Amino acid sequence: MNTAFRAIPSVDVVLRSGTGSVLVERFGRAEAASAIRSQLDDQREIARAGGQLLDAEGVAEAALARLEAASLSSLRPVFNLTGTVLHTNLGRAALAEAAIEAASEAMRHAVALEFDLDSGKRGERDEHLRALICEMTGAEDATLVNNNAAAVLLVLNTLAGQGGGAVVSRGELIEIGGAFRMPDIMARAGARLIEVGTTNRTHEKDYKAALAEDGVALVLKVHTSNYRIEGFTKEVEAPALSQLARAANVPLVNDLGSGTLVDLAKWGLRREPTVREAVAEGADIVTFSGDKLLGGPQAGFIVGRSDLIAAINKNPMKRALRVDKLRLAALEATLKLYRDPDRLVERLPTLRLLARQHDEIATLSSGLLPQVQSVVGADYSVQVVECASQIGSGALPLDTLRSSGLGFRPQSGGGGALDRLTAVLRSLPIPVIGRIADGMLILDLRCLEDPEAFLANLSRLKHGMG
Ligand SMILES: *Cc1c(COP(=O)(O)O)cnc(C)c1O
Repeated sequence: MNTAFRAIPSVDVVLRSGTGSVLVERFGRAEAASAIRSQLDDQREIARAGGQLLDAEGVAEAALARLEAASLSSLRPVFNLTGTVLHTNLGRAALAEAAIEAASEAMRHAVALEFDLDSGKRGERDEHLRALICEMTGAEDATLVNNNAAAVLLVLNTLAGQGGGAVVSRGELIEIGGAFRMPDIMARAGARLIEVGTTNRTHEKDYKAALAEDGVALVLKVHTSNYRIEGFTKEVEAPALSQLARAANVPLVNDLGSGTLVDLAKWGLRREPTVREAVAEGADIVTFSGDKLLGGPQAGFIVGRSDLIAAINKNPMKRALRVDKLRLAALEATLKLYRDPDRLVERLPTLRLLARQHDEIATLSSGLLPQVQSVVGADYSVQVVECASQIGSGALPLDTLRSSGLGFRPQSGGGGALDRLTAVLRSLPIPVIGRIADGMLILDLRCLEDPEAFLANLSRLKHGMG
């Protein structure tokens, strides 16, 4: 026993070993010593149990492995092969190169964020994008906040915050997930909810009756992003709603949710009303997201009538919800890509992935199949599968995009074997995230744009699968 303990090296000896100096070089003396100390504690346990001990080099290697694992960011890139392009839990839109460059520049330097370079006086941060947003949407004025949830909160608080009535159809009182429920947001904004109509049918006369009440501050129309009511339904379209609101002298607010600046039908997707159309249809305020179909960073756009935008900007809550220079820089670069619609699909990853054709994805699947099968080995049979991608983030909820991928079926062990495979894929240097369906793990390849990197990453499995 004593001889076993004496064989355990000291911290200094481990630090002076070859790998020990690599440890110090990479992580600094303090962190290296602390990792070695905890490895040496493990060695003492092993000595007590009469097990096999490591030499100084071996202890240093174990400490290095531990520090390397701990230094991986939990926010590191993953392969999103879930088939959901705008996956909220995986960070939604991947940004365009132009946006990435603009944001890095803004990170690296001081920028004229609230400084007017012409006059040398204090400027406004919204000024950088105001003209561009108005150009893209046809709106009179615009302001920006952290996300669309913040946009809705701020608009409701500004226009109806003192208990003002907000008239909404029952069919549009939605929950978006992540605890964003329209009635709750309304209550937090200080507005009084006035529900009209029924879940499936709301008529003009319902709105008219509500608008005749005292204390109505606005009419709210909400895009029912993540569900659709079908069958015996009736809603009042924005143009008619706008006339009703105008007659009652209150603004119409249209929460578009995802919002898009271009007609997506051009790329084979379903037509969604654009922000420009929502503005033209008479909404006094339109709100929408930066990181859904628009393909930019997280942000909330508020566009519409100048007098209302001015009131929104005066609300002290605006200060708490404002965006930083990184986001402004990335948004400006993203929006500018829309000036050249012909090249948008090449330059904007969200659109590129959504527009990707089935044939191209299927070719990718069959090309990867042999190598992937050889890496995972005989425990799983891999095959090319037809699948359906989703847009995600509540945009066009019922529409799927024909796609292709790889399906992994365990030869034995059923669900347990599938869970083991998904866990091993998640533990790769670049975690691979798929989805389980029909007794298979499916990797939808729509969002795979770098197959070499995917294979190189997967080759690490050979050590993990055993
Ligand atoms: C997604 C969505 C929101 C919230 O937008 P975020 O940018 O995620 O905060 C609000 N309203 C509707 C209708 C939505 O679809």
